[in-house]
Amino acid sequence: MSKYLKFFTDLTDLEIRTNHPLAEYTHFKTGGPAEILICPYTAEAIADVVTICQEQEIPLQVLGRGCNVLVSDKGIPGVTLLLASKMAKCDVSGDQLFVEAGLRIAEACALAAKNSLTGLEFACGIPGSIGGALRMNAGAYDGSFDKIVIGTQYVDAQGVMGWVEGAEHEFDYRASVFAKNGWIITQTVLQLEQGDRLKIYGQMAENARKRRESQPLEYASGGSAFKRPHGNYASKLITEAGLKGYRMGSCGVSEKHAGFIVNYGKAKSSEIMAVFINVQDEVEKQYGIVLEPEVQFIGDWSDQPMVRRSISN
Ligand SMILES: Cc1cc2nc3c(=O)[nH]c(=O)nc-3n(C[C@H](O)[C@H](O)[C@H](O)COP(=O)(O)OP(=O)(O)OC[C@H]3O[C@@H](n4cnc5c(N)ncnc54)[C@H](O)[C@@H]3O)c2cc1C
Repeated sequence: MSKYLKFFTDLTDLEIRTNHPLAEYTHFKTGGPAEILICPYTAEAIADVVTICQEQEIPLQVLGRGCNVLVSDKGIPGVTLLLASKMAKCDVSGDQLFVEAGLRIAEACALAAKNSLTGLEFACGIPGSIGGALRMNAGAYDGSFDKIVIGTQYVDAQGVMGWVEGAEHEFDYRASVFAKNGWIITQTVLQLEQGDRLKIYGQMAENARKRRESQPLEYASGGSAFKRPHGNYASKLITEAGLKGYRMGSCGVSEKHAGFIVNYGKAKSSEIMAVFINVQDEVEKQYGIVLEPEVQFIGDWSDQPMVRRSISN
């Protein structure tokens, strides 16, 4: 039983589980358990949890739908806040979507299309939650969330709720004010425009088709393993380094898209990490470029080799 559990048992508007396996919540399908898994129903419940973690010095990790993370085999110590479970409501008002952070991007896309709202087509096919998408400023096909997000509610690292608008989001390539400060996104407002419903569905279907053709969607992965280096493409460098299709046991670099590191079935997180390290080392050896991981490595990685990160995000 976790020594931290007693601090959370009086809280309301949330569910608590202990020593809960996380592999089922991650797209890589790997990783150990959460010491304490908390599924909040409201932003206020998140604020309560963050305040306690701050006061009691309990480690805190946020998980959306696990599509951009590799969780350590040892699991996540302290509290893991899982937003995807209970905070996934969405309302339409005029041309705007009011979306809770745990909602699937796919559901937001479907709601936009149903209401003839254009602007979210780029995101159709990006797996994950709206919260994860804002933190990472997810994007594809010349679109990204920074172009449609107008205001966002968050909880800061002290447990205080706040609101940012426009440029205050500090969006950049796979970066945001939320990543910079460790703020938890609870809800956001997306500004879309009235459009032609058939054209919207058509564009979404086209984007989904392009993804199916170019990405290894049939295997577990964390999406693009590395960020785009300045003036280049990670997948191009990995291919030219001779690593496309490179395999280590049950995981490796996808044969279909060298930007993806995939789990073919039974790999552990430590084995997937080894692929990250080898790819990073080999590309550096051949081209002098240190690829920056896009995937986030969470949980207890102490005493284990890790891929290098030059920037904290
Ligand atoms: C097959 C595949 C294809 C992909 N294609 C794309 C693509 O085209 N473009 C793209 O940009 N990404 C892509 N991704 C990556 C991923 O889908 C996005 O980054 C997604 O938005 C992550 O959302 P998530 O809920 O799964 O976040 P998670 O993986 O759960 O978390 C990612 C990070 O965000 C943090 N986080 C999650 N929720 C919150 C929150 N509410 N508040 C604060 N921090 C939070 C987590 O702590 C973690 O650091 C792809 C992934 C896969 C597996």
